[in-house]
Amino acid sequence: MATPTLNPRVQSLVTEYGVFWQSWPQFEQRHGERRLVGFEVELIGSHPSDLSHLDPGCSKCRNVRTVLLMIANLLPGEARLGEDCLIYDVDSHSNSILRLPALGNRSAVSVSVYVYWSRSNGQSFETDLLTEIKTFFSRWGIHQR
Ligand SMILES: [Zn+2]
Repeated sequence: MATPTLNPRVQSLVTEYGVFWQSWPQFEQRHGERRLVGFEVELIGSHPSDLSHLDPGCSKCRNVRTVLLMIANLLPGEARLGEDCLIYDVDSHSNSILRLPALGNRSAVSVSVYVYWSRSNGQSFETDLLTEIKTFFSRWGIHQR
């Protein structure tokens, strides 16, 4: 499998926007049983100036979202685990600006990638998938929070 070359400009924007990621387990209730069916992988970034604005029309925020989206769209081709049972769904949350208490209430933009699997072979599958995702992001210098 070919490794895509990392665009140096995108790479420097990742640093400028302080991009990081976090993941949230997605559960499904079936037959009274709660089971893990996927992850939401959230990419978050913010532009340096004007840290606490909340303006959905901000063009800089739009640039941040474009970069996050570009990275998010590469993930499905990268984290595959050699199987085709994964379903990826990218949501750009196009009109929302976050305010993150963890970052001193600074405004940020997020893009989510939902990864679902149609079948899982147990605990190691989920761990392996997260490892793949982590490896992909760390090549871009994007850390998990
Ligand atoms: Zn902005």
